[in-house]
Amino acid sequence: MAEEFLQRTWAEIDLDRIAHNYRILRRCAGDSARFLGVVKANAYGCGAIQVARKLEEVGADYLAVACLDEVRELRDAGISLPILILGYTPPEMTPQLIRYDVTQSVSSEADAAEYSHQAAACGGTLKIHINVDTGMTRLGFSVRGDFFCGSVEAIARTCALPNLEAEGIFTHMAVSDEPDADSETYTREQFALFTATIDALEKKDCHFAIHHCANSGATAMYPEMALDMVRPGLVLYGAGDLAAQLGLKPVMRLKTTVYSTRHIAADSSVSYGRTFRTTAPTRTGVLPIGYADGLFRCLSNRMSVMTVQGPAPVLGRICMDMCIVDLTTLDQVQVGDTVEIFGDNQSVNDLAAMAGTIPYELMCAVSRRIPRIYLENGSVIERRLYL
Ligand SMILES: *Cc1c(COP(=O)(O)O)cnc(C)c1O
Repeated sequence: MAEEFLQRTWAEIDLDRIAHNYRILRRCAGDSARFLGVVKANAYGCGAIQVARKLEEVGADYLAVACLDEVRELRDAGISLPILILGYTPPEMTPQLIRYDVTQSVSSEADAAEYSHQAAACGGTLKIHINVDTGMTRLGFSVRGDFFCGSVEAIARTCALPNLEAEGIFTHMAVSDEPDADSETYTREQFALFTATIDALEKKDCHFAIHHCANSGATAMYPEMALDMVRPGLVLYGAGDLAAQLGLKPVMRLKTTVYSTRHIAADSSVSYGRTFRTTAPTRTGVLPIGYADGLFRCLSNRMSVMTVQGPAPVLGRICMDMCIVDLTTLDQVQVGDTVEIFGDNQSVNDLAAMAGTIPYELMCAVSRRIPRIYLENGSVIERRLYL
């Protein structure tokens, strides 16, 4: 099996680090809070099945994904933890939601009525979590300003619908990971609005077993917002600015190899568009990674890759399947050597900043052409190619 595919470029997924990060985050959240691990988007590129298995093993309570297809993948792999779908599912799919024993987030009374109707028709009960919009302005019952009372009424009616079991209520923070004062004010305002909503519902005798609002930023920065469950994604994978501060470790290391090297003359142009020209004799290396593998083309002429001898700058345009680096001063770097794109020596955060984006986007972009190599206790336990 190990020889079934090339290892031209690969992503090492260190499952021990999932366990390590989980333990630290669990401690941040306090003893009473449950732990939901967000494993949407193939667990931020790390592999949903393997990450979910690890979370199940270490004692996580819940998982969350974006859509029903992601649930199916996990259930078919034998994952039995409760799973929350954060996005929308068409009500016609209610029988499947029930069959897969999944919790659907609900953002309006009209959707809830449809789910209720469909659940009744198939003789089942659908578990739901009420999504409350306190300031993300995306999904959820809006409770800001004048909408507060009407939405509280609508949530109370939703919870009384037959064939629905309203297990939880949650909201999503817009700027909990931003360190500035305005963001802190906004986050606290969102939290206050969430707790006010919960209080108003309790007065109507509408109670939930699980209240949750803490994404990565809130889990890390506002332990008082843990409530009954924390719901981190990015920090679980050891990425983002808050991760290092908490002692979390990067789970994914994206690596490639040196395909070939050559010496080129001064005043040679390198790669498409001739955007880089040498001013002196130069030793270059070709790496088998390009934008189709997830290495953003906007990093052309900007980023370096990490070799055993130090950083090697990318020269010229990143191509679809390859890029070219400067090895002039890195004389020990040879064909076949391993090179890190991001990981322990160059953080995905720094690379994302260079690309003008966030680490989430770089991790999700690692394409299905890149085999994931799963490590546990320092050895490879599985190699998986999604092609
Ligand atoms: C993606 C998502 C999360 C996790 O966000 P992170 O910033 O990765 O922690 C939590 N809750 C909801 C509703 C989400 O969509």
